Amino acid sequence: MLRSFQKLDRTFPKFSVSKLFQIKRHHSAEDLDPDGCGLDPFDISFNSPNFPMSSTEKLGEEETQRLTSEVEHILGSKPTYPNVKGWKFTEKELTRLLSNRTHSEDLVLFKTAASATEREFGNETYFRGIAEFSNKCEKDCNYCGIRKSHPIVQRFDMSDKEVVDAAKWVAEYGYGCLLLQSGERTVKKENERVSRLIRAIKKETTSKTYPKGIGIILSVGEQKPEVYKEWFDLGAHRYLLRIETTNRDLYHKIHPSFNHSFETRVQCLKSLRDIGYQVGSGVMIGIPGQSLLDLARDLLWYRQMDLDMIGMGPYIHSQHTPMCEEFEKDYWQVQNNVTDKDDWDWRDSDFAQYRDMENWKRYRLTLRMLALTRLMCFDCNIAATTALQAIDPFGRERALEIAANVVMPIVTPKKYRKNYVLYDGKPCVEEGKEECRGCLQARVLSVGKRVVYDQWNDPPHFLRKQINKK
Ligand code: SF4
Repeated sequence: MLRSFQKLDRTFPKFSVSKLFQIKRHHSAEDLDPDGCGLDPFDISFNSPNFPMSSTEKLGEEETQRLTSEVEHILGSKPTYPNVKGWKFTEKELTRLLSNRTHSEDLVLFKTAASATEREFGNETYFRGIAEFSNKCEKDCNYCGIRKSHPIVQRFDMSDKEVVDAAKWVAEYGYGCLLLQSGERTVKKENERVSRLIRAIKKETTSKTYPKGIGIILSVGEQKPEVYKEWFDLGAHRYLLRIETTNRDLYHKIHPSFNHSFETRVQCLKSLRDIGYQVGSGVMIGIPGQSLLDLARDLLWYRQMDLDMIGMGPYIHSQHTPMCEEFEKDYWQVQNNVTDKDDWDWRDSDFAQYRDMENWKRYRLTLRMLALTRLMCFDCNIAATTALQAIDPFGRERALEIAANVVMPIVTPKKYRKNYVLYDGKPCVEEGKEECRGCLQARVLSVGKRVVYDQWNDPPHFLRKQINKK
């Protein structure tokens, strides 16, 4: 990728990124994509607020048929798409669609996915409040802004009262579900704390509206099956555990080997499924060293794991992490021949342009991944993740228009938010829960969708499996 920037830099020295976007229109994709990755970060039309369709546009059966033929035309073949189980693509077909070369190819893909989203969910969007209740973690993932050995982050634990108050607020404002998220801690005392929180939240939020209390989603990492079981028995019913990548070699590059194993992660997901949780996972998109084939395989893995919920976002650097330092080192040594770390300048304009361009490529690829996920896993809940908004101010809206049906407003008290920043530029760090609520409601409405309040809004995929079991 660095080679591509060097070539760009020779062509357009010292321009702002927005200027580069304008200039790009006069150059072919090949000029700007010498690595042949099929991504064109300079296509500004792609990022316009009304993309991919106006909020009032509805896709009828005829339009859906037309889009289907267009996807076949792009692929040069006919994928299998039984109505009930979503589309079936081969690895080769997925790689082809992930490397769309033109704006119109992307439009076809996104509109086809939007049609699938509309058919399953209409204009409905579900809110889940997120309480980031602790940033303490036993692990040291190489990309993460709250990793154990992060030199700057200040550690916090929300008090039990603060967590329960957040849950009561979520119930009061009709979000239906609360996601309890933290770093991974496996010690008994911490597991007991999660049990205590589940009990208290259920007790405090049980009402006529919520006869079983609000829904509780957990995202607290790899744990023993008996711990998962205890939490499930207490009333938690969904669990999120991202795989990040299904390429084992890449997985081991981005996670320290001494306490991470790909197999353990997959086993945890299987245990969660066996216990009865609704299970969610997802990947990071644009990890250095990740190929389009890796991403195609990630998509096939979603199907293979029979996931109920999928959340994925672009990889965005987080300063003071090994992966970010590697990226900076490459840039300063290869581009500027600067070897002394003290001379690296994060704010240098060329560096900032390079970093932004890389992010836009990942963003675009993430939208394609979202579209393909919806086509393949048509009845799963798919999240419009905050990381998209870190790159494009309208990133979550784009995801909602194409494939997403879930948005997760943060309900963590404002005083803690700046210490729960997993990647640089995370949005919603300066806001409080009320502001997040108003802002996200407006974002949902702006793309012609509406929020469904006062319900758990379980993924239809999970509900269908339950019905089929009977
Ligand atoms: S990604 Fe999760 S497990 Fe890894 S360091 Fe960050 S919080 Fe801990």
